[in-house]
Amino acid sequence: MQIQSNIKKIHDDIRAAAQKSGQDASRVTLIAVSKRKPPEMIQEAIDAGHRDFGENYIQEAMEKIDLLGRKSATWHFIGHLQSNKAKFAVKYFDLIHTVDTVKLAQEINRQAQKIGKIQKILLQVNISREATKSGAQESEVVDIAKQTCRFDNLHVSGLMCMPPFFDDPEDARIYFKRLKQISKEIERLNLPNTAMTHLSMGMSNDFTVAVEEGATLVRVGTAIFGARQ
Ligand SMILES: *Cc1c(COP(=O)(O)O)cnc(C)c1O
Repeated sequence: MQIQSNIKKIHDDIRAAAQKSGQDASRVTLIAVSKRKPPEMIQEAIDAGHRDFGENYIQEAMEKIDLLGRKSATWHFIGHLQSNKAKFAVKYFDLIHTVDTVKLAQEINRQAQKIGKIQKILLQVNISREATKSGAQESEVVDIAKQTCRFDNLHVSGLMCMPPFFDDPEDARIYFKRLKQISKEIERLNLPNTAMTHLSMGMSNDFTVAVEEGATLVRVGTAIFGARQ
């Protein structure tokens, strides 16, 4: 019951943020981030009618998805992906949010080709240039898009970012704006196998600001499932 009411509250907040800023709330998908949460909690959300879930760790995700059913939900991979796990990400996930090198894109393409899938991916940008964070640098991302669009078993569906945590979510706004600018820049190139449909940005603390700046995928964990250990 708590999960259901949390999801409802977030949908209300998304709607209010969209309305305030002239965005279309129906274009925003709420991804419930279920990393380190038990499958029972995911099932509870599914039973409440929720469909999109985000996971960070391949091994953990495979176990949960096998249990709950690959087709029972839309699965988003939002963690750091190593090339040697690309095979599993392709098998289990509808959208991979965290592609940040051409090498990784190439390996995902190779694995997708093997099973006859067009894998949807997002390019992750290290928008705040933090040394500890994954994601391509701003200066590299256009070039990565230009190279990645040659892979016929990939569809580049947009960009993803994860700004630092700020006590005041307003401080994240400049990063969300910047990600949108980069996506427009890439859109103008009219690359094959590419459409800048999605901006994956905003988490529990700052998703309303992200929606105001045009997020189409918000990734919310704590505000739905509670704090993680
Ligand atoms: C864990 C995680 C989230 C969810 O964070 P919350 O603050 O719990 O909402 C979103 N995106 C990514 C990439 C994550 O790793």
